[in-house]
Amino acid sequence: MELRAEIIAVGDELVSGQRLDTNSQWLSRALADAGGRVVRHTTVGDDLQANIDALRSAAARVDLIVCTGGLGPTQDDLTREAIAAAFDAPLELHQPSLEHIQSLFARRGRSMPPRNRLQAMLPRGSLPIDNPHGSAPGIDLSTTVDGRSVRIVALPGVPAEMREMWSCTVGPKILPQLLSSNLRQFFHVVKVFGIGESDVEARLPGLFERGRDPTVGITVSRATITLRIASWARDETEFRQKAAATLQQIHQALGDLVFGCGEMELEDRVAADLVRVGWRMVALEIGASSWVGDWLQAATGRLEVPTLEGGRSPFAGSLAFARRADAVSWLRTDRDEADSAVLPTPSATAAAEPQTQVSELVELAELAAKRFAADVALVIDGYPSEREMVAATSPFPVRYALWVGGGQVVDQRQLGGHPDVLGPRIAKVGLDLVRRAITDRHPTMV
Ligand code: AMP
Ligand code: MG
Repeated sequence: MELRAEIIAVGDELVSGQRLDTNSQWLSRALADAGGRVVRHTTVGDDLQANIDALRSAAARVDLIVCTGGLGPTQDDLTREAIAAAFDAPLELHQPSLEHIQSLFARRGRSMPPRNRLQAMLPRGSLPIDNPHGSAPGIDLSTTVDGRSVRIVALPGVPAEMREMWSCTVGPKILPQLLSSNLRQFFHVVKVFGIGESDVEARLPGLFERGRDPTVGITVSRATITLRIASWARDETEFRQKAAATLQQIHQALGDLVFGCGEMELEDRVAADLVRVGWRMVALEIGASSWVGDWLQAATGRLEVPTLEGGRSPFAGSLAFARRADAVSWLRTDRDEADSAVLPTPSATAAAEPQTQVSELVELAELAAKRFAADVALVIDGYPSEREMVAATSPFPVRYALWVGGGQVVDQRQLGGHPDVLGPRIAKVGLDLVRRAITDRHPTMV
């Protein structure tokens, strides 16, 4: 029998949107790691009846309820009272907890305010959960609801205290009493770029069905698609065996649209590929943003091996210009007189023919590569401003030029989307061109 759990997060600051409920996320992961299955999160304000209702309805469904928040000494801290009322377990003074709280105050040279006595009150039949760095102990109550055993664990809201109490007591001492099987949930995450969410679904019929094992979930964030394969297994090896066919199916259906796994982002993949093939890259971005440069710089810092032979960085640098004409003039400034004839006069953005613009971008890419002694140069023209994105009724034309090892790649796209997504999408299309150019020239097994 699996352990089914629910989490109740308590606090007005959570339901009002003043603060994000990060504890529920942390607890869910901790429970899944231990082998529990969290089936619901509930967030309630500091309201006694709402807390009692949430506790009772959760107790009718699951074996374990983990509450976080509302254990402090102030009037809005109601978790203690709510547990007492919901499960007919009146509050009683727990002498050792009172002494612990008194001694904490004594150590700080203060006398304990009368209200803090409340923190030493526990619902009848419950055990305190040690809180080494805070005053209030947690609550561990075992009760029976409709003939079923239900365990209620209440932890403070302060994230650091909650995690410490979980690691010291709940994880090692309470959970083993509740877990009857030794199965844990494992995940494998596949990252995809260059295709829409519904096209992924169409290429993988049946894969996202609910009753399937392993389950596969799909989410999209800033144009990158994440496929999350999940299953319960005794260990990593068993999980890999269970997930193998699903993983193969995904790779067969999506091919090189898959760029990585786990936490890897597209820029991490490009940075790692640059190191693999020993290339340096420069990015030149035109318009209102410069995502590629920022991302590659950060990704280079995350690399396990951050340098090429000779200690050079795979990220040669980046340039950002508001207008293409400025980029052209800048790169021309100190070129040899003889060379400068190669480059056309900067064209005014609106008036330039698309073909002129593309050849201009290729020139820019080549110049940037030479100037930075880079093996690959990516030029993106360009990022619309926030104002333009908000006002847009149709996609934006975006042009790409890639200069790579003496060859060139050009691409033009019509890209649209929500202003929060469009900038990253424009950048990712460029990064993906680089990734593909590297793979074409230096193929590898994914
Ligand atoms: P409490 O234990 O309810 O007095 O909460 C103490 C502090 O922890 C407050 O600053 C809260 O904002 C924070 N806190 C409470 N619950 C959560 C939660 N679910 N996620 C993140 N922070 C929280
Ligand atoms: Mg609170």
